[in-house]
Amino acid sequence: MKEMKTIYIDNAATTAMSDEAINAMTPYFKGVYGNPSSLHTVGQIAKEELDKFRQEIALLIGAEAREIYFTSGGSEADNQAIRSAAILGSLKGKKHIVSSQFEHHAVLHTLKKLEKEGFEVTYLKVSKEGLITAEEVLAAIRPDTALVTVMFANNEIGTILPIKEIGAVCREKKVIFHTDAVQAVGHVHVNVKEQNIDMLSVSAHKFHGPKGVGFLYCKRGIALKNLIEGGAQERGKRAGTENLAAIAGMAAALKHACEHIDENAAKEIKLRDKLIEGLLKIPHSKLNGDKTLRLPNNVNMCFEGIEGESLLLLLDAKGICASSGSACTSGSLDPSHVLLALGLPHEVAHGSLRLSLSEWNTEEEIDYVIKEVPKVVEYLRNISPVWEALEKGEKPHLI
Ligand SMILES: *Cc1c(COP(=O)(O)O)cnc(C)c1O
Repeated sequence: MKEMKTIYIDNAATTAMSDEAINAMTPYFKGVYGNPSSLHTVGQIAKEELDKFRQEIALLIGAEAREIYFTSGGSEADNQAIRSAAILGSLKGKKHIVSSQFEHHAVLHTLKKLEKEGFEVTYLKVSKEGLITAEEVLAAIRPDTALVTVMFANNEIGTILPIKEIGAVCREKKVIFHTDAVQAVGHVHVNVKEQNIDMLSVSAHKFHGPKGVGFLYCKRGIALKNLIEGGAQERGKRAGTENLAAIAGMAAALKHACEHIDENAAKEIKLRDKLIEGLLKIPHSKLNGDKTLRLPNNVNMCFEGIEGESLLLLLDAKGICASSGSACTSGSLDPSHVLLALGLPHEVAHGSLRLSLSEWNTEEEIDYVIKEVPKVVEYLRNISPVWEALEKGEKPHLI
C-alpha cells in the first residue's frame, strides 16, 4: 500500500477517520460481534449497543431514536427518502416533486428515474451566488406536489441554503421536505425539529467517520418504503444485518464533531478566508458561491484560460490533493452541473478548483497552497491557446 506525505484538502470527497471513531469501532469486531436480531445473550448485547447508538445519534440532530434508520451512506438515504415520498405521494395522486438544479447526483439521478416513471420534477434555478430562497420553493409548490428535496449545503461550492425557511414553507403547504445534509451534519448546526425537516440524509465519512455507513432521519408518521427487502431490521424498513462497528464509529465521529463544531468552524473559516484572499490575487480568478453563506471548509474558484483537470494533476505532483468539482463528475469531460447552474459559461466552469478543508489542516499547509497554485495557473496559462487568444484580445475575458 502506498502512503505519501500530502496536503489533503479534499474533505468534501471524504475525510480521514478520527482516533475517536477508530477506537469506538474496535470492540465490535470481536468482542461484541453478535447479530442484534439474535435472541441469545451475545445478540442481545449487540442490540443494546445498537439502540444506544441510535439514541446518541438522534439526540445530536434533535430527533427521536425511532426516527433514525441506518443505511450504507448518503446515497442510499437520498434514494430511500425520495422514493418513499414519491410512492406516498402517488397513492394520493400527487406526482410532482420540487428540487434544485445543483443537487448531488444521488438526488438528481433518482429524480431522473422517477421522471421516466411518470413523475414531474421542477428543478429550481440557483442564483449566481449559489442560493435558493424559500419564496422560490413556495412558488414552485403545486396542489399535486408530493415532495420538496433541496440540499442543506452544496458539496461543490459550499453554499448553505435557508433550510429552516424552506421547511416552514413545506409545513405550511403540507408537503414532505427532504434535505441531503451530507455536507452539513457535523460541520454546521443541524436540528431537524427546529429547522422543520421531515427527512434528512447523512453520511459518516464526511465527518471523520467510516465509509459505507450513514443514516436517514424520517419524521414519525411518514411511512418509509423499503429499497432493500429481507429481514425486519430498522423497524422493517431496511433489511440486512446491522454494521454495528461502523455505526459505533459513526456515532463517535458525530459526537466528536458536534462537540467541537464551533471551534472547528472558527479554525476552518480562518484558513478558508486566507485561502480565498490569497487565490483571488491571481488575475482573472473568481470565487464560486456566496462568500459568507458557505460551509466553513469550502473554497471553490475558477481560473480563466485553463483546465481544472490539468491544474489538479500538477497540484497532485506537488503533494496537494484537491478536486475540480464533484468526484462523481471526474472522468467525464463535461463541466460540473453545479457550476453551470450558477450561470457560468462552459469555458469558465472548466477551470475550476475545489479545496475543502478539515480542522486538521494547518496554516503552513495553506501558505504552501497559496504559494503553489498561482505558479501552476501561470504555467498552464502560458501553454494554453485559449489564454493566448484572451491576452491578444481576440476573445473577451469573461472573469
Ligand atoms: C458524499 C455525498 C453524498 C453521498 O454519500 P455516500 O455516503 O458517499 O453515499 C450525497 N450527497 C452529498 C451532498 C455528498 O456530499
